[in-house]
Amino acid sequence: MRGWWRAVPIAGLLAVASAGSAVAQDWFETFKDTATPAELHRFLYAMPKGGDLHLHLGGSVFSEWYFDLAVAQAANGYRYYTKVKIENCADAARPPRRPPYLFRFHTVDQNTLERFNACERSEYVPLESLTGSQKAAWLDSLRLDQAHEGRNEFFEAHWSRLGDMTRNPHLIAEALYRNMQAFGAEGVAYIEPQVGVRGLRASNGDALSPDAVMDIYRERIARPDAQATGVSVRMQVSLLRFVADAEAQLAQLYDIAARHQEIVAVNMVGREDNDKGYPLRFLDTLRALRRQHSGVRLSIHAGEVDEPNHHVRDTLLLGAERIGHGINLITDPQTLTAMRHGPYLVEINLISNLLLEYVDDYAQHPFPEYLRIGVPVALSTDDRGMWDSTLTDEFFVAVTEFDLTWAEIERLSRNSLRHSFLEAAEKAALLDDYSRRVANFVAAFQADGMAAFADRRPPRRGFVCRRYGLCPEPNEGNP
Ligand SMILES: [Zn+2]
Repeated sequence: MRGWWRAVPIAGLLAVASAGSAVAQDWFETFKDTATPAELHRFLYAMPKGGDLHLHLGGSVFSEWYFDLAVAQAANGYRYYTKVKIENCADAARPPRRPPYLFRFHTVDQNTLERFNACERSEYVPLESLTGSQKAAWLDSLRLDQAHEGRNEFFEAHWSRLGDMTRNPHLIAEALYRNMQAFGAEGVAYIEPQVGVRGLRASNGDALSPDAVMDIYRERIARPDAQATGVSVRMQVSLLRFVADAEAQLAQLYDIAARHQEIVAVNMVGREDNDKGYPLRFLDTLRALRRQHSGVRLSIHAGEVDEPNHHVRDTLLLGAERIGHGINLITDPQTLTAMRHGPYLVEINLISNLLLEYVDDYAQHPFPEYLRIGVPVALSTDDRGMWDSTLTDEFFVAVTEFDLTWAEIERLSRNSLRHSFLEAAEKAALLDDYSRRVANFVAAFQADGMAAFADRRPPRRGFVCRRYGLCPEPNEGNP
């Protein structure tokens, strides 16, 4: 008899501690059946998460952050100007040039502006002097939020408009800190952003070496405010795969990664529907680099393309341990079956894939198939500054569209830590910490329900507002 009544509270504890068992999942199924979309979103915001393994730092800056950070760079001697009108300046319109001459809201620094002729200079105004409507249009020009905007607008326009803002290491270092803050606030413990280290400039226009740029990033991450976010950071460096000298760039990046312990991997990005960027182009180069260097890991975009091909298989042959996107892996049965149960992970970017039109609807997305046949997957944000979204929103899409179980949610977060390029001891510590945080979270929810998270206010950004009707409350800004 004593044994029986003592078993009751112990069973209750077990249900919390072993979240993932059938008993522990019941509460989440009940919650999903009864929660409003706003409650689910708030729950997912408060929920502890693992890491974000696939994000491009330059694309992870909300446009209002870019504006504020760029204006604040006056303190470091950088001043920004943006194009607000087209005067049909004859010389400027002569091709070739990037971005195209007719772009409004292309932003440059004072060094670039000085190289323009008087006509073209007259088209630009200091960023801080934009009128209210001009500023709204500038902010909008960096978001992929219109029905007619898709892949071409993203690849050809948004990145070009950023102009010289992405060439200022101090601005990018502050953007990294803002990301640590925002990710920390939504329960993320680790990020592995792809950062630019080449082509950056001092305020006088002088080129900065990758080592000098890394010193600036390293110093920013080490400051107490950044450390207080609780978010661990490692970095990747990446190259555009289709450019003429991509092999030489790959060798340069490999060397940089080998010399900086904060840089844990090299990535290759850019449109795969450009036939100059196919994976096997780099096989000989990587084999040569592996004869010289040890310890440089590879996570490579592959299968982010409409047509069937063997890009994922070929990218594994390159030595990649993680695949970015992997959308068309579903069309390659041999590679798909070989990837079940590891060791490679596919980094899934649900919002990116929809907005860049790799799927027209989530019913076409292979994510649930990968997840449920045992291909390791994790959710990530890619370029959330341009989607105007968060990692919480990625989980919200996944739960809403694919009815994730609690065990699947935990698996996604654990995968994002297990497949990180962290050193073993820190990885183990973050996995332990995740288990502790998630157990506390489940216990708090089971004790108090949504009241446990009453003070949590998730940002409701553009993507979830447009697609799911989760828009900011009146008088509620986004942090
Ligand atoms: Zn990407």
